[in-house]
Amino acid sequence: MEERLKKSDTLNVLGQLAAGIAHEVRNPMTAVKGFIQLLESSMDKEHSMYFNIISTELARIDSIINEFLFLSKPQAVKYMENDIIIIMRETVKLLNAQALLNNIQFRTYYEYGLPSILCEGNQLKKVFINIIKNAIEVMPKGGFITITIQSFNEDSVKVSIEDEGGGIQEDKLDKLGQPFFTTKERGNGLGLMVSYKIIDEHKGSVKVDSIEGKGTTFNIYLPKINQKIF
Ligand code: ADP
Ligand code: MG
Repeated sequence: MEERLKKSDTLNVLGQLAAGIAHEVRNPMTAVKGFIQLLESSMDKEHSMYFNIISTELARIDSIINEFLFLSKPQAVKYMENDIIIIMRETVKLLNAQALLNNIQFRTYYEYGLPSILCEGNQLKKVFINIIKNAIEVMPKGGFITITIQSFNEDSVKVSIEDEGGGIQEDKLDKLGQPFFTTKERGNGLGLMVSYKIIDEHKGSVKVDSIEGKGTTFNIYLPKINQKIF
C-alpha cells in the first residue's frame, strides 16, 4: 500500500511538470505541422519520402503530448453511476476489428446484478482500451483475450483482462506504469501510466499477474457504490 502511495505521489509531481511542458510544446508543434503541410505541395518525389517520415514522427510527438496533457486536465470530471459491463461491452465492440485482424477472439464473462460504479465512463473506457490494446500487441499469433467482471468482495468489483502473450519478466513488473517504460520499438510507454492514474483517481487499484511464456492478467479493483448512502 505504501509503495502504491509513493508511486502515485511521484506520478502527480512528474505528471504536472510533464503536462506543463506538453502544453508549451503544443503551439510551436502546431506551427511546424502547418508549415510542413504547406511544403508538401512543392516537394519532388525524393523529398516526399522524407515528408512521410516527418509526418509519422510528428504524429508520434502528438500522441505523447496528448497523453501528458490528459494528466493536467482539471479534476472537474463528472463522476456518475455507471454500469461497468456496458462500458466494457462498448470497449470490446470498439476493438473487435483490430482483434480479428490479429486472429484474436474475446471471451467475456460478466456477472449479472453487479452494483453500479461511480466513475467517469470515458476515462474508464480509456483504461480498458489501453490494457486490451497491450494484450492484442503481445499476441501476434492470435488466441484468446479473456475478460471477466465479477464481484470481488463486499466493497469492490474486479475486472480481469487476461492474455496469452509472452508474459512480463518479474523484475519488470515494478516498472509498469512508469512514464516511458516500454519494450516496444514503436511504443511510448505512456498508456499504463495514464491508466494507473485514472484508476487511482477512481480510488481503485491494479494487480498484475504474469507467467512468462504463458500470459498476463491485469486485475483492476474498483469500489462499489456504497449501498448505505441510499
Ligand atoms: P506501450 O504500449 O507504448 O509500450 P504501455 O504503458 O501501454 O506502453 O505499456 C508499457 C510496457 O508494459 C509495454 O511496452 C510492455 O513491455 C509491458 N506490458 C504491458 N502490457 C503487457 C502485456 N499484456 N503483456 C506483456 N507486457 C505488457
Ligand atoms: Mg500500450
